[in-house]
Amino acid sequence: MTRLLFWIALIILVVMAIRSKLRAAVAARGFDPHAGQGGAAPAGGTRPQARVEEVERMTSCAHCGLYFPASEAVHQGGQDYCCEAHARQPAASRIE
Ligand SMILES: [Zn+2]
Repeated sequence: MTRLLFWIALIILVVMAIRSKLRAAVAARGFDPHAGQGGAAPAGGTRPQARVEEVERMTSCAHCGLYFPASEAVHQGGQDYCCEAHARQPAASRIE
């Protein structure tokens, strides 16, 4: 009887471990865990396949030293500036 209980407990543990691994793998792919099981995607659905996490590169203004996203930078003379006004001023007058 004890052996039977041991095997039942072992099987339950293995099943729980496999389900946990599957859930982690699905979450890593970015799927919604509440979307249902079986992977029956609706035809023509525009559900996002994966959440794209982009890390914005930061840069500092050559004039005032402010850190801001590089996509918002004003490029002039090979340097990044936070705004047009600072781009027009020389980098040498940077506030220390
Ligand atoms: Zn600036």
